[in-house]
Amino acid sequence: MSAATHPPSPSSSSFTAMGSIDALSNTMHTDEPVELILLGTGTSSTLPHVDCLTRPPTAKQCRACTATLRPDGRKNKRGNTSAVLRVRGRDGEPKTIVIDVGKSFMQSAVEWFPKYGLRQIDAVLITHGHADAMNGLDDLRGWTLGGAIQPHVDIYLTEETFESVKIAFPYLVQKEFATGGGDVPEFRWHFIADRQPFEIEGTGIMVRPFAVPHGFCGAKRMKPAAILPDHGAPVFENSSSPWSSGLPGTPVATGVSTPTQEEFLCLGFIVQDAVTYMSDVSRIPPDVMDLLQSHRTPVLILDCLYLKPHKSHLSLQQSVEYARLLGAQRTYLVGFSHEVAHEEYETLLKAVGGRQIPPAEMSEAVERGLATLDLQGERIWIRPGYDGLRVFVSADGRAMEAAEF
Ligand SMILES: [Zn+2]
Ligand SMILES: [Zn+2]
Repeated sequence: MSAATHPPSPSSSSFTAMGSIDALSNTMHTDEPVELILLGTGTSSTLPHVDCLTRPPTAKQCRACTATLRPDGRKNKRGNTSAVLRVRGRDGEPKTIVIDVGKSFMQSAVEWFPKYGLRQIDAVLITHGHADAMNGLDDLRGWTLGGAIQPHVDIYLTEETFESVKIAFPYLVQKEFATGGGDVPEFRWHFIADRQPFEIEGTGIMVRPFAVPHGFCGAKRMKPAAILPDHGAPVFENSSSPWSSGLPGTPVATGVSTPTQEEFLCLGFIVQDAVTYMSDVSRIPPDVMDLLQSHRTPVLILDCLYLKPHKSHLSLQQSVEYARLLGAQRTYLVGFSHEVAHEEYETLLKAVGGRQIPPAEMSEAVERGLATLDLQGERIWIRPGYDGLRVFVSADGRAMEAAEF
């Protein structure tokens, strides 16, 4: 098939409909180890903030952002949430799968691709149509212009997210809209859907996508009826209100009567039954919990924005409670704001595992975080993720960080 030059349609050579689990069950390579690298672990704003680095010395200083100026504070430097999974394909060669290419993707790639020997990208999975998940699509020209690394990049996304791409980057889906030299990346678009497991084309690598609420918006971005069938889950309305402007994730107060808000949906992924990735989620509906509990993975990557609840993301307390229910060997939280520094999150999360907190680590943020947590609950292994963290899941399902070898 040639690379995409037109918007995909079922008849287009650039479009690939995803198969069913039955068709794929014979191709699963569950006996292969999986390598996970976190490319980014920060909120949409990324860390550090310019504001925090340029404050006058007399103003209150931000612990997380100023720490990035010191070598020992490097883990506070966080790009948009993104990850790489490296798995051996059917042909015996390692395949590189990138989840999300947001605003800071190129910065992350420049830093971590050379360090970890990454080069060719065999697939990009997009979780949803927000800037911190897809605005780096344009940067993939660095891979395909002049066939620098590869002739095209395979992108896996929902039809609804593809609509967001079309609005944000018309020239990426239709070259007629390109201006200047027309130096745009070459893509093959693959449509995927909630609860429809698929294979990364030709590799035998298996991905199970699942949709979870990620805050609210007025515009209809996915088909809720297909997402939450017959589980007594919340009923969504196909609003035709003025909020349905077609612009993704940008509800605007209109001054007219308030319409019913729909939940904005974002994909999570289970890759090779080794890693569950859920970077943008505000709640996990019961039927998704059922799915995740029946496909428990050794490693869980889970959203956590603030200590307090937020309408689009999980709070620390919510993340810990979900992690207890999902029972991964290792849970890493991602998506942090600068409210709490990395070492403070480590202190808080080790306490969830039963560690006594030394007085020297009892900062104001740790105290506030502790006040939200139930330390009498089940003790689990849970840590803050950081950019560049590398974790392996062995063929027999044991999770280890690279430093533990
Ligand atoms: Zn800051
Ligand atoms: Zn988002």
